[in-house]
Amino acid sequence: MSHVTGYESCFCGKTVVIRTSWTDDNPGRRFQSCLNFKRGGCQFFSWEDPPMCNRARQIIPGLLRKINKIQDELEKMKDKNARLVLLQEEVGKLKSQNKKLIICVIVIPIVLGIFCVIWSRFKRSDANGLSGGSRFKMVA
Ligand SMILES: [Zn+2]
Repeated sequence: MSHVTGYESCFCGKTVVIRTSWTDDNPGRRFQSCLNFKRGGCQFFSWEDPPMCNRARQIIPGLLRKINKIQDELEKMKDKNARLVLLQEEVGKLKSQNKKLIICVIVIPIVLGIFCVIWSRFKRSDANGLSGGSRFKMVA
Protein backbone atom coordinates (compact mmCIF):
# COMPACT_ATOMS: atom_id res chain seq x y z
CA MET A 1 0.00 0.00 0.00
CA SER A 2 1.64 3.23 -1.13
CA HIS A 3 0.88 6.56 0.47
CA VAL A 4 1.21 10.30 -0.10
CA THR A 5 0.78 13.02 2.48
CA GLY A 6 -2.58 14.81 2.20
CA TYR A 7 -3.76 18.20 3.42
CA GLU A 8 -6.56 17.29 5.83
CA SER A 9 -6.19 16.38 9.49
CA CYS A 10 -7.32 13.14 11.08
CA PHE A 11 -9.03 12.79 14.49
CA CYS A 12 -5.57 12.87 16.11
CA GLY A 13 -4.93 16.28 14.59
CA LYS A 14 -2.15 15.00 12.37
CA THR A 15 -1.98 15.41 8.62
CA VAL A 16 -3.66 12.49 6.88
CA VAL A 17 -1.90 10.35 4.31
CA ILE A 18 -3.28 9.30 0.97
CA ARG A 19 -2.82 5.58 0.40
CA THR A 20 -3.69 3.28 -2.45
CA SER A 21 -5.83 0.22 -1.85
CA TRP A 22 -4.86 -2.98 -3.62
CA THR A 23 -7.74 -5.13 -2.42
CA ASP A 24 -9.82 -7.09 -4.95
CA ASP A 25 -12.83 -4.80 -4.31
CA ASN A 26 -10.88 -1.53 -4.66
CA PRO A 27 -7.71 -2.15 -6.67
CA GLY A 28 -5.77 1.06 -7.22
CA ARG A 29 -8.39 3.22 -5.45
CA ARG A 30 -6.89 5.92 -3.25
CA PHE A 31 -8.10 6.78 0.24
CA GLN A 32 -7.12 9.07 3.13
CA SER A 33 -6.32 7.72 6.55
CA CYS A 34 -4.48 8.48 9.76
CA LEU A 35 -0.69 8.37 9.44
CA ASN A 36 -0.64 5.76 12.21
CA PHE A 37 -3.68 3.86 10.92
CA LYS A 38 -2.26 0.38 11.63
CA ARG A 39 -0.13 1.44 14.64
CA GLY A 40 -2.69 2.66 17.14
CA GLY A 41 -3.81 5.79 15.28
CA CYS A 42 -7.40 6.96 14.92
CA GLN A 43 -10.06 5.48 12.62
CA PHE A 44 -10.20 8.41 10.19
CA PHE A 45 -10.94 7.12 6.70
CA SER A 46 -12.16 8.78 3.53
CA TRP A 47 -12.08 7.62 -0.08
CA GLU A 48 -10.11 9.95 -2.33
CA ASP A 49 -11.24 8.35 -5.61
CA PRO A 50 -14.81 7.50 -6.67
CA PRO A 51 -15.90 3.83 -6.62
CA MET A 52 -14.62 1.69 -9.45
CA CYS A 53 -16.88 0.21 -12.11
CA ASN A 54 -17.60 -3.54 -11.96
CA ARG A 55 -15.52 -4.24 -15.07
CA ALA A 56 -12.43 -2.64 -13.52
CA ARG A 57 -13.01 -4.62 -10.30
CA GLN A 58 -13.06 -7.81 -12.37
CA ILE A 59 -10.03 -7.10 -14.55
CA ILE A 60 -7.55 -5.23 -12.35
CA PRO A 61 -7.10 -7.91 -9.62
CA GLY A 62 -6.31 -10.53 -12.30
CA LEU A 63 -3.81 -8.19 -13.93
CA LEU A 64 -2.20 -7.50 -10.55
CA ARG A 65 -1.87 -11.23 -9.86
CA LYS A 66 -0.24 -11.70 -13.28
CA ILE A 67 2.18 -8.83 -12.60
CA ASN A 68 3.04 -10.27 -9.18
CA LYS A 69 3.60 -13.71 -10.71
CA ILE A 70 5.86 -12.22 -13.40
CA GLN A 71 7.80 -10.26 -10.75
CA ASP A 72 8.25 -13.45 -8.71
CA GLU A 73 9.53 -15.25 -11.81
CA LEU A 74 11.85 -12.31 -12.51
CA GLU A 75 13.29 -12.49 -8.98
CA LYS A 76 13.84 -16.23 -9.35
CA MET A 77 15.57 -15.67 -12.69
CA LYS A 78 17.77 -12.97 -11.15
CA ASP A 79 18.80 -15.44 -8.42
CA LYS A 80 19.53 -18.11 -11.01
CA ASN A 81 21.49 -15.61 -13.09
CA ALA A 82 23.57 -14.59 -10.07
CA ARG A 83 24.35 -18.28 -9.41
CA LEU A 84 25.25 -18.73 -13.07
CA VAL A 85 27.67 -15.81 -12.92
CA LEU A 86 29.35 -17.37 -9.87
CA LEU A 87 29.55 -20.73 -11.63
CA GLN A 88 31.05 -19.10 -14.75
CA GLU A 89 33.71 -17.49 -12.58
CA GLU A 90 34.42 -20.88 -11.01
CA VAL A 91 34.64 -22.49 -14.46
CA GLY A 92 37.11 -19.79 -15.52
CA LYS A 93 39.31 -20.49 -12.49
CA LEU A 94 39.15 -24.24 -13.10
CA LYS A 95 40.05 -23.78 -16.77
CA SER A 96 43.09 -21.75 -15.73
CA GLN A 97 44.14 -24.46 -13.28
CA ASN A 98 43.51 -27.09 -15.94
CA LYS A 99 45.88 -25.31 -18.35
CA LYS A 100 48.59 -25.32 -15.68
CA LEU A 101 48.03 -29.02 -15.05
CA ILE A 102 48.21 -29.81 -18.77
CA ILE A 103 51.49 -27.89 -19.00
CA CYS A 104 52.83 -29.92 -16.06
CA VAL A 105 51.66 -33.16 -17.64
CA ILE A 106 53.49 -32.29 -20.87
CA VAL A 107 56.61 -30.58 -19.48
CA ILE A 108 57.42 -33.07 -16.70
CA PRO A 109 57.56 -36.14 -19.01
CA ILE A 110 59.70 -34.21 -21.52
CA VAL A 111 62.13 -33.14 -18.78
CA LEU A 112 62.19 -36.68 -17.43
CA GLY A 113 62.80 -38.05 -20.95
CA ILE A 114 65.72 -35.68 -21.51
CA PHE A 115 67.09 -36.58 -18.09
CA CYS A 116 66.80 -40.31 -18.91
CA VAL A 117 68.61 -39.85 -22.23
CA ILE A 118 71.42 -37.90 -20.58
CA TRP A 119 71.59 -40.46 -17.75
CA SER A 120 71.73 -43.40 -20.15
CA ARG A 121 74.55 -41.77 -22.12
CA PHE A 122 76.39 -41.08 -18.89
CA LYS A 123 75.96 -44.72 -17.81
CA ARG A 124 77.05 -45.95 -21.25
CA SER A 125 80.22 -43.88 -21.06
CA ASP A 126 80.86 -45.38 -17.60
CA ALA A 127 80.48 -48.88 -19.04
CA ASN A 128 83.11 -48.05 -21.71
CA GLY A 129 85.82 -47.66 -19.08
CA LEU A 130 85.35 -44.27 -17.79
CA SER A 131 84.58 -44.35 -14.12
CA GLY A 132 82.97 -42.00 -11.66
CA GLY A 133 84.77 -38.72 -11.41
CA SER A 134 87.26 -39.25 -14.26
CA ARG A 135 85.00 -39.23 -17.27
CA PHE A 136 87.59 -37.39 -19.32
CA LYS A 137 90.47 -39.24 -20.99
CA MET A 138 93.83 -38.08 -20.00
CA VAL A 139 95.93 -37.40 -23.07
CA ALA A 140 99.64 -37.66 -22.39
ZN1 LIG B 1 -5.17 9.92 13.44
